[in-house]
Amino acid sequence: MEDWRLNGQEKYLQGATLYKIVFPQFWLKAVTERNSFYEMTAECARRFADQMQRGEEYLKGDKIRNFFHEHCEFCMEKVTMDNEGEFYCTTDMEHWICSECFNDFKEPFGWKVKQRKAECGE
Ligand SMILES: [Zn+2]
Repeated sequence: MEDWRLNGQEKYLQGATLYKIVFPQFWLKAVTERNSFYEMTAECARRFADQMQRGEEYLKGDKIRNFFHEHCEFCMEKVTMDNEGEFYCTTDMEHWICSECFNDFKEPFGWKVKQRKAECGE
């Protein structure tokens, strides 16, 4: 299969299990549950605020969400919470795939999609 988007991703994505993530719902749930995704994003925001020597004010309200920023592994499209809709990511949340690339490559890559279970308290 030839496609400009393919660039060796099979090394780490062949047969991978992916979570289906829907923004903004996924984030709203993360905020309510203070789950690991929330913590990961908040940690990144705190580190940035520290570096920039900004106070607590800087992270007030929902500003933390702006620190989540990934790219689709295939087409490089930005994945942020302002892009509403479906995305897929590996279970360690390291690699993200937009829904268009997911549909185009799910068969050759043999992905399995898993619901991300409620992880409150885990
Ligand atoms: Zn893509």
